[in-house]
Amino acid sequence: MTDDRHEHEWTRAKGADGIRAWACNDCDETCATCTTCGGPSGTTLLLCRPCERHAARVLDDITHALGYYRTDPRSLISSPGNMRLAPGGTPPGGITRPADVREQLWGWVARWTEHTGPSNASAIDYLKAHHIWAAHNPDDSGWPAYLKDAKRLRTAARRIAGLLPQFHPEPCVHCGGPVVQDWSDPDWKPLPRGLSDTVRCLGCGMTWADRAQWRFSTRQHIVELPGVRPDSLVTLAQARMVWPDVPAGTLRQWAKRARDEWADAVGMVRTWWAARCDFGGPEWVEWARAGWTEDMLDDAPDLPAVLMRQRGTRRGEPTYRVGDVHALVERWADERRAGRAPSVATRRA
Ligand SMILES: [Zn+2]
Ligand SMILES: [Zn+2]
Ligand SMILES: [Zn+2]
Repeated sequence: MTDDRHEHEWTRAKGADGIRAWACNDCDETCATCTTCGGPSGTTLLLCRPCERHAARVLDDITHALGYYRTDPRSLISSPGNMRLAPGGTPPGGITRPADVREQLWGWVARWTEHTGPSNASAIDYLKAHHIWAAHNPDDSGWPAYLKDAKRLRTAARRIAGLLPQFHPEPCVHCGGPVVQDWSDPDWKPLPRGLSDTVRCLGCGMTWADRAQWRFSTRQHIVELPGVRPDSLVTLAQARMVWPDVPAGTLRQWAKRARDEWADAVGMVRTWWAARCDFGGPEWVEWARAGWTEDMLDDAPDLPAVLMRQRGTRRGEPTYRVGDVHALVERWADERRAGRAPSVATRRA
């Protein structure tokens, strides 16, 4: 050890390993490699200070989050429109109470005490005190798996404490990233007035003052699509935002009709191709008997321009060309105008 106060500048020492794996450019000091991050550990240990601090921090975060756990969900004073009372969704991994988190931490304690001897400390205190041992004995401790598990338990603790943000179904119109409203501040403390009004994008950091403004700008953005970018793809839910007057059932019907028409057309082309392949062979007899002639094999059947054919998916939802939907909406609106005119006339009479 040295008592000089300069910041060591570590470079990988050629051909050296163990506690001499890294050498300081300015002094004679050497150090080992941190097996967690692969950088210089700064000491003879296999765990660097930042990695050790980080592992301890995850456990502190768990304690911190569980401290906010309430059996009755917090109220939503600042968002009276949102009637859902319990934040968060269905819990994966069966963790619904702080006891579940602690129980899983005890699993690691049990594994480690087999090698380190019994202890009376709390699970979190015990684990924290044995991080260096665990990093040095990954075969016994399962260190990398433990680090992953601790992070998973931290997320679970935040979830059951109602600190995770609430996700919106529609992605950000600017970057496509997930859009959320927060239950907690950046330090994971619950917001005093419940769910934040501010809507923010986790992708590009864009924020909107409240849900209404977010909805407005999202809708505005999508509404402009048919004219400006007819090739943009939208889900049926987004199409509803553009054309709120068209019933959801009608949109679904159009999508289904397009699916059926397209399947028929593709089926016809396949049949035509099979006939063409069989021409001149023994199987052609069957085709000829069914009325096929050689002339019919010259041109492939046209694939019709099926409107509102599915063009892919977004988060599992089928997407459609906005220009296609637009054309069908125009036709639908014309038909309705035509159909409605006489009834208006008779009512006036
Ligand atoms: Zn140095
Ligand atoms: Zn490290
Ligand atoms: Zn964004």
